[in-house]
Amino acid sequence: MALEEMRRLTGKNVVPQIFIGDEYIGGYEDFLVLDARGGFDRKLGRAPARPPVTEEVRDVIIIGGGPAAMTAAVYIARKGLSAVLVADQLGGQPALTAGIENYMGFQFVTGPELMTRFEDQVRRYGGVALVEGEEVVKLEIAGGMKQATTQSGRRFTGRTAIIATGKRSRLLNASGEQEYAGRGVSYCATCDAPLYAGEPVMVAGGGNSGMQAALELAALCSEVHLVAPAPFTADELLLGKAQAEPRIRMHLGWRVVAIDGDGKQVTAAAIAPDGGGKQVQIPVRAVFIEIGLQPNSGFAVDLVRLNRHGEIEVDCECRTGVPGVFAAGDVTQVRDKQIVVAAGEGAKAALSAQEYLLTRR
Ligand SMILES: Cc1cc2nc3c(=O)[nH]c(=O)nc-3n(C[C@H](O)[C@H](O)[C@H](O)COP(=O)(O)OP(=O)(O)OC[C@H]3O[C@@H](n4cnc5c(N)ncnc54)[C@H](O)[C@@H]3O)c2cc1C
Repeated sequence: MALEEMRRLTGKNVVPQIFIGDEYIGGYEDFLVLDARGGFDRKLGRAPARPPVTEEVRDVIIIGGGPAAMTAAVYIARKGLSAVLVADQLGGQPALTAGIENYMGFQFVTGPELMTRFEDQVRRYGGVALVEGEEVVKLEIAGGMKQATTQSGRRFTGRTAIIATGKRSRLLNASGEQEYAGRGVSYCATCDAPLYAGEPVMVAGGGNSGMQAALELAALCSEVHLVAPAPFTADELLLGKAQAEPRIRMHLGWRVVAIDGDGKQVTAAAIAPDGGGKQVQIPVRAVFIEIGLQPNSGFAVDLVRLNRHGEIEVDCECRTGVPGVFAAGDVTQVRDKQIVVAAGEGAKAALSAQEYLLTRR
């Protein structure tokens, strides 16, 4: 019932959708942007819970809000340095991960719980100002300082900068993908699977993320069409599990070429054979796109060196080659994309930034 009401009032099919009284605010990211600018408190008619973060010069600007950035923040604060952490959203990829079984100290922990613990630990230290709901669109050197400009025009200046902006979902570039984003097109099975309980859905992607998404959806949905060009690249174990699941129908050697709907919601998707050929239309209520990730490095493209995948090249001390600019975690070329690795690299970047500052004082 509540779900139908949400769809009727907002035209959206992703959670959460936020209202203050009768006023529609938008999704979680819209809320963060509003809150970052004190708008949430103003709408509630109360004084800001936290004073706004000023734009004074600090020792370090940390860009990002995942495991790498938050670990860097704790290390920086414990060295008595001043820092501002600017993130469009705190939590990073783990905030969208259902279960984690390989972060030391936990047999099992949900991604949101782990990242809440990271955030609590950062907030314990007064030296780090947290700015959430701001996306950095440019990092440059200005007057010998590192300057990060956000999409709303705010400028944060630091003697050093640590880039820890991770990765985001790659787009499929199928027709209808943008039109139906949030209305059946989803990049997060863990978040949105319950919205399609009992309905037929499609997953695009034959790697580990695609298999995991298909298995998660098969537990709730009436039918899951798994579409991927040959060969599947998922681990044998996951592939075997997906092949054994009766609700998953494999379309190996096919691509999703178009996503169709009734203007409000996805109603079908068209798939075509890999080498070209006749399209087949499959009625589905949602298409989950799980075709990998791309680094969030565009805002630093004029400053640091990127490899052919768009990852920032760093040495083993997280140095980018630009004096005073460091990078850590999934946004770098470091091979293993894991929480424990990103956290470790965040710590290394912070210690390198501290050493850089020491040698210049
Ligand atoms: C479905 C899935 C399951 C996974 N499961 C596991 C697992 O079980 N175990 C494991 O170890 N790893 C797992 N991983 C990998 C792990 O989540 C990543 O390796 C890790 O989160 C990388 O951390 P990070 O801090 O480098 O980047 P991210 O976690 O990607 O965080 C990047 C942060 O930067 C912010 N940001 C991005 N661009 C900007 C910008 N321009 N301005 C401001 N902020 C910005 C983002 O909002 C985000 O907060 C999984 C990943 C996925 C997708």
